[in-house]
Amino acid sequence: MDIQTQQLFSMALGLALPWTITEIKFFGTDQQLDILIDFNLGSPFLCPDCNKPGCKVHDTEERTWRHLDFFQHKTVLHARQPRVKCSKHGVKTTTVPWARRGSGFTQLMESYIVLLVQNGMTAHQVWNTNWRA
Ligand SMILES: [Zn+2]
Repeated sequence: MDIQTQQLFSMALGLALPWTITEIKFFGTDQQLDILIDFNLGSPFLCPDCNKPGCKVHDTEERTWRHLDFFQHKTVLHARQPRVKCSKHGVKTTTVPWARRGSGFTQLMESYIVLLVQNGMTAHQVWNTNWRA
């Protein structure tokens, strides 16, 4: 992946350090774009409960988030979501900048769904569009 492609997708996703795109895969048969995101080794994170900075990563969990389509292709973000060890709250799953806590959709995807519903689509119609999770 060249730097310009990486920068283009990073800007589109609003990524900032320590998060970077490590790979972009496109599988023509599935028409799916997979964007692999990772954080720099040794990066500290905030405790999601008290926002204490500098918490060390305890372990990570592989996760995926459905994103808005890029170029009309289903787009899925993949990342190792860190769990940090807070001295007050113990081991907690961090939040990622592109999604709400516990959601399988990115914030942009959720915003788009809300916009469709506010403009008259039913939940059933939204679900039956081509970009279901
Ligand atoms: Zn804490």
